[in-house]
Amino acid sequence: MSSYVEEVMEKIKSRDPEQPEFHQAAEEVLESLSLVLEKHPEYKEEGVIERIIEPERQIVFRVPWVDDEGNTRVNRGYRVQFNSALGPYKGGLRFHPSVNLGIIKFLGFEQIFKNSLTGRPIGGGKGGSDFNPKGKSDGEIMRFCQSFMSELYRHIGANTDVPAGDIGVGGREIGYLFGQYKKLANAFEAGVLTGKGLDWGGSLVRTEATGYGLVYLVQEMMQDYGQDIEGKDVVISGSGNVAIYATEKVQELGGNVIALSDSSGFVHDPRGMDLDLVKEIKEVREGRIKEYLEEYPEAEYNEESFDIWKLDCDVALPCATQNELDGKSAQALVDNNVIAVGEGANMPSTPEAIEVFLNNDILYAPGKAANAGGVATSALEMTQNGMYDSWSFDKVDKELKGIMTNIYENISETAKEYDKEGNFVVGANIAGFIKVADAMLDQGV
Ligand code: GLU
Repeated sequence: MSSYVEEVMEKIKSRDPEQPEFHQAAEEVLESLSLVLEKHPEYKEEGVIERIIEPERQIVFRVPWVDDEGNTRVNRGYRVQFNSALGPYKGGLRFHPSVNLGIIKFLGFEQIFKNSLTGRPIGGGKGGSDFNPKGKSDGEIMRFCQSFMSELYRHIGANTDVPAGDIGVGGREIGYLFGQYKKLANAFEAGVLTGKGLDWGGSLVRTEATGYGLVYLVQEMMQDYGQDIEGKDVVISGSGNVAIYATEKVQELGGNVIALSDSSGFVHDPRGMDLDLVKEIKEVREGRIKEYLEEYPEAEYNEESFDIWKLDCDVALPCATQNELDGKSAQALVDNNVIAVGEGANMPSTPEAIEVFLNNDILYAPGKAANAGGVATSALEMTQNGMYDSWSFDKVDKELKGIMTNIYENISETAKEYDKEGNFVVGANIAGFIKVADAMLDQGV
């Protein structure tokens, strides 16, 4: 790392010492940027690095709501509007008890570069709450979403900031959030949120997009190096929206998904996971992955989440959450001759894990490139809303595939340009950064 980048890192840490996830995300990007600063001294001279690491605006607010027993509860809401150089702030909302300002900042920071890589005119932002949706009734979810939007609505808009879903926020939550926005704004502004229902401004493929996009990019990367997903054993962590549709696409391409997980443990079924059953458990029953064994008692269940990475596989797709794959897990994958790793989640690999992948020449696709299909399809939803149009499944899917191919070519070419062939971390960070940095230079301080 150059001494200038070290200096900036010091500043980040002393300004907000309690935000380890944000430090981790910033450090990874800044390390890659050391290479750029030699070629482009103007980014340093005009303070682009120091400006890009500080959110343009951070909103923290109270979310009071009443539970089914009549008790008043209070959660904390966040929206970090990180960077608007390329377009309105864009990024999801996460409802999970682990949420705090540092986590929202790390996600918002990653989102800037991810959104830039999509090639669409969207800036970076993220929001959420420490609200835990698990075990809550439909009425409680609705009242929470309404209260959350009662504050958020004054800060968002189709040309200002466009939230969507993330962990804990799916179609149902977007519906309640949109309903409340519409009441308060007295306007049907479809472009203010993405991930909407198909009858009221949503886009086909948005639900599938992150998982499908991940597999499109991983397939592109593998084919570039003479490999193919067909016939490969694939381990996928998670069993939410991203994991489910990644599984669907892997199976469609002839790969064999041998494991899926949730926060309690993982199921290993070497003959291939029955996706219809997983969908029924997770999407209909809202149950636990363990219930898979009721139908397939010969499958294995293991409560040690990290052990999922000890399974012998060719491709690993971490699709659960941040830092779910550590250095030891990465080593276990390497020892089992893994070929490719693609991140469906945001920052699922620790810095130690990334080092292991890169040192062992594993084809490793970082989240900000590999999972960009979700937000890219959100941008396609915004386009359709702007045109008062809705496209067919095939048209959106084709656009998504084209975007993922472009992202792969862009990060791969950029890595080569900086003499780091095959290092897609450097490729993604630099390619994502340069576009935002140039827009910031154009627009002045
Ligand atoms: N939450 C998703 C992400 O991490 C999607 C965001 C969006 O569609 O705005 O990129």
